[in-house]
Amino acid sequence: MKFEEFNLHEDVLAGIKDAGFEACMPVQEATLKETLQGKDVTVQSQTGSGKTAAFLVTIFQRWCTTKPEERRSTMIISPTRELAVQIEDEAKLLGAHMGMNIGCFYGGVGYKQQEEALKKGVDLYIGTPGRLIDFGQNRKIDFTTIGTVVIDEADRLFDMGFYPDIRRMLKMMGPREKRMTMLFSATLGTKVLNVAWEHMNMPVEVSI
Ligand code: AMP
Repeated sequence: MKFEEFNLHEDVLAGIKDAGFEACMPVQEATLKETLQGKDVTVQSQTGSGKTAAFLVTIFQRWCTTKPEERRSTMIISPTRELAVQIEDEAKLLGAHMGMNIGCFYGGVGYKQQEEALKKGVDLYIGTPGRLIDFGQNRKIDFTTIGTVVIDEADRLFDMGFYPDIRRMLKMMGPREKRMTMLFSATLGTKVLNVAWEHMNMPVEVSI
């Protein structure tokens, strides 16, 4: 299936064209069929499957089709700084026509530069749990403004001990009914299912 067949906004298609993508990868086709209808999803997916574009295209289409005064921000939670930076790079490429402010927030570096980015206003937060929670606690990020959240590589996040942090972040965002939540993971184990049950809106399980 081609991306054009999804009735995507022209600014989203322009980014896809810039990236040189034509046909959807299987995980993209299966995920977009659900997420473009506004459904929450748990997606069983490996690195290299094209999962990043699956959630980015969803985020950008939601942004383009929401009235400016009703737009809310998005948060993508990643297990590592390296993955967060890769997601940021792909978001900047695919989202070049969006006019969204994209910021990347991770630990191991000073706060100053990231605080400067926050002052300018961020529409798409990409980051690792520790630093995002830090900014939530000192009120530099208001988690209640998040309307879309992606938990990427959930099993890796949980293996690294971030299970309590992820649940805490989702609680800080407020009622699950008020946001869309997408979860990507190589395996859908007990912790993933718990998060889906407690914090998502009857997610569709996508596996390919
Ligand atoms: P990911 O699994 O998200 O890390 O993506 C793996 C690689 O596939 C990345 O280098 C993407 O740029 C590339 N990619 C994603 N979607 C497509 C597509 N539809 N066509 C060609 N390449 C793609």
